[in-house]
Amino acid sequence: MIRIILKSAFVALVSIVAYLTIAATVVPAFGGVLDGNAWLILAVSLPCSAYTFWQKEKLAKALAELKATHAELAVTHRRLAEKARRDDMTGMLNRESFFDVLESTRPQEKRGALLIIDADHFKMINDSHGHLTGDSALLEISAAIRRGVRAGDTLGRIGGEEFAALLSGATDEEALQVAERIRREVEQIRFRPDERTVPLTVSIGGIDCTPGASVSDLMRVADRRLYEAKRRGRNRAVLEPFQAAA
Ligand code: GH3
Ligand code: MG
Ligand code: MG
Repeated sequence: MIRIILKSAFVALVSIVAYLTIAATVVPAFGGVLDGNAWLILAVSLPCSAYTFWQKEKLAKALAELKATHAELAVTHRRLAEKARRDDMTGMLNRESFFDVLESTRPQEKRGALLIIDADHFKMINDSHGHLTGDSALLEISAAIRRGVRAGDTLGRIGGEEFAALLSGATDEEALQVAERIRREVEQIRFRPDERTVPLTVSIGGIDCTPGASVSDLMRVADRRLYEAKRRGRNRAVLEPFQAAA
């Protein structure tokens, strides 16, 4: 308030001086005489400039509040957009976002690998221990998969008990090591929903991401290898070409 009064007083003073200077020059030039009414400017200029400055302060305050709200909305929007990309249970990318990432890396990635990781006999866990215990087992499996991959690899939950890992820049050898590490990490989980330990294992199918191969080509081959891993007895990884059983 003090600031408004001081500013208004200053403006009023300047406008009075300017007005009187002009009036004292122009009025006599036209044969007139400055009378007492000229001082009415005093009564007008101070409240007018005070009102203008008050309005300006109000506008500045409203603008600052608007900017703060806009910034808050932008943060909320980013948080919601990130949440929409993720699977609620595991925090991994959801199916759609994982495939978006895979698709977007296709043109520039010269090397890398895709793994599809499927929990073995998971229906049996649900059937014997209930769906909630099944959910806990899935969380344990997703944590083990996280421990198995390298920093910078992309993980997604692409189905109920099916996960995928995009190993950026991985050689065939590295992909094999990561797949084996994931398999072992899951196998080593001691999952005890009651007094008995329930064994958890995964089967893995993988493929190196050759340039030019489309996402559906990669998925088709990785899927075929996953089913070969199941066929060979589960709890294993197949990343190499194989002769399909007749
Ligand atoms: P396989 O080794 O051949 O993969 O056998 P499987 O039993 O794992 O495969 P199947 O496709 O027959 O069954 C998958 C099961 O996973 C059935 C489904 O109820 C369960 N499942 C999928 N999503 C969830 C989930 O979010 N929570 C729980 N608890 N179970 C789930
Ligand atoms: Mg399964
Ligand atoms: Mg499955």
